[in-house]
Amino acid sequence: MAYQVTFIPGDGIGPEVSSAARRVLEATGVPFEWDVQEAGMTALEKYGDVLPDSVIESIRRNGLALKGPLTTPVGGGFRSVNVALRHMLDLYVNLRPARTYKGVQSPYEDVDLVVVRENMEDLYAGVEFDTGTPEAKEVIAAINQRSEKPVAENAAISIKAITPENSERIVRFAFDYAVKNGRRLVTAVHKANIMKFTDGLFLRVAQEVAKDYPSIEFNDRIVDNMCMQLVQKPELYDVLVMPNLYGDILSDLTAGMIGGLGVAPSANIGDKAAVFEAIHGSAPSYAGQNVANPVAMLLSGVMLLRHIGEMEAAEAVDRAVATVIAEGKHVTYDLRPDRDRTKAASTTEMTDAIIAEL
Ligand code: NAD
Repeated sequence: MAYQVTFIPGDGIGPEVSSAARRVLEATGVPFEWDVQEAGMTALEKYGDVLPDSVIESIRRNGLALKGPLTTPVGGGFRSVNVALRHMLDLYVNLRPARTYKGVQSPYEDVDLVVVRENMEDLYAGVEFDTGTPEAKEVIAAINQRSEKPVAENAAISIKAITPENSERIVRFAFDYAVKNGRRLVTAVHKANIMKFTDGLFLRVAQEVAKDYPSIEFNDRIVDNMCMQLVQKPELYDVLVMPNLYGDILSDLTAGMIGGLGVAPSANIGDKAAVFEAIHGSAPSYAGQNVANPVAMLLSGVMLLRHIGEMEAAEAVDRAVATVIAEGKHVTYDLRPDRDRTKAASTTEMTDAIIAEL
């Protein structure tokens, strides 16, 4: 039986890199059937909506989606497709592996980290009150009645809410991921020394969950110290689990450590559905030129293969990508030290070279 996957080509460079990923996944021999769905600018032009209901219905039905990047229309109050997908499908995990590939320009040689970021709550949930508004004043008055530390009346307010349920499921995901993927260590990242209740809760839950996984080592780090340690000795770390905002920042740090956007994949995962996509955006100025690097999207496809348990195919694609990058002959301009476009491979040539290595 073929795996049914919702395929969202995306816009800008999206269709080029997502079809490259699709071709490579098909070349592994794992059977796929693609349910093609438009979202973003393409859907806006055709159906007047950046996220038609049919897209959500398709992902709910299939439980799996491979998504190309989407341009966020400027102005007009359009909802962010990514945030909407995350909330409508309860995709509570943002998973971002960061691994160095020999041949990619990077200050590090052997980084192999996985950031597991909580996707639903924390300061990121968007519960905010603007300075001077009646709502902000009401919230501040309520706080000042109860707190010994007064909040200034003209303050803008963002609410940081952390729940035991969401903390438990993200930490459990991190440990399950570690077990399934042969990882040795899970590190909880927090600022519990200052935010004793919110981050304190996250840390306590993590310590409790860790007891259920005796085969995996567990430790915790304060987020500022974590940043310094990652830069200085990344080899000491493995799987990192953290609340939303720290995850947003640290996953860009780790992506930078491995050479940036062209090679950084990601997944948004829930109990019923998972959406795999490159971290980079739609790079509109490169659209339609067949020059974009397909690797981030391809590696998102590798994550999809691992997610459905097709480990051999996943390893094969990963090895093929590593070989082609290391040889450096058939790589897109951004992976060339001279960035010379006239000597670089096109998106399709690099994809063909990867398929030839499978
Ligand atoms: P971007 O990631 O699209 O591009 C930034 C630069 O990175 C590009 O100009 C290019 O030099 C380089 N780059 C990115 N991907 C590349 C690739 N595959 N190969 C070679 N070079 C690559 O970021 P941006 O310009 O800030 O955003 C453009 C649009 O994409 C915006 O509308 C933004 O909202 C959207 N976006 C979408 C997603 C998503 O759908 N997941 C993520 C980020 C940004």
